[in-house]
Amino acid sequence: MAGEPQDDCLFCKIAEGHVPATIIRETDTTVAFRDINPQAPTHVLVIPKAHYRDAAALAAADPALAADILRETKAVADEDKLESYRIVFNTGTGAGQTVFHAHAHVLGGRGMQWPPG
Ligand code: AMP
Ligand code: ZN
Repeated sequence: MAGEPQDDCLFCKIAEGHVPATIIRETDTTVAFRDINPQAPTHVLVIPKAHYRDAAALAAADPALAADILRETKAVADEDKLESYRIVFNTGTGAGQTVFHAHAHVLGGRGMQWPPG
């Protein structure tokens, strides 16, 4: 069923506390933890506790939960005192998505270029 935990999903396991992560924030519906392979001084992933394969599926199934994720990206930026930061939802393999549990990357603490690679 949409949103149900998936046995083979790494981020479901992190959300359930079965795989360790450096968790910096948690709400009833979301978890924020530091990326294991940071691409910037701040590189935090914000995930819904419920499983959706990507941001598009999340937004279609539960727009309020998608809004929770966006609200948490700002809380992460505040926690790391970022004035400028980038929010990325890689969606699909061609865009670089490797973990198929929706997540926002919050990147900051260095200059950013546009367009991204
Ligand atoms: P994406 O490529 O957009 O799907 O992002 C997946 C992200 O998850 C990558 O930036 C990985 O470095 C990160 N990642 C993979 N495994 C872990 C883990 N165990 N803990 C924290 N971050 C992870
Ligand atoms: Zn999952």
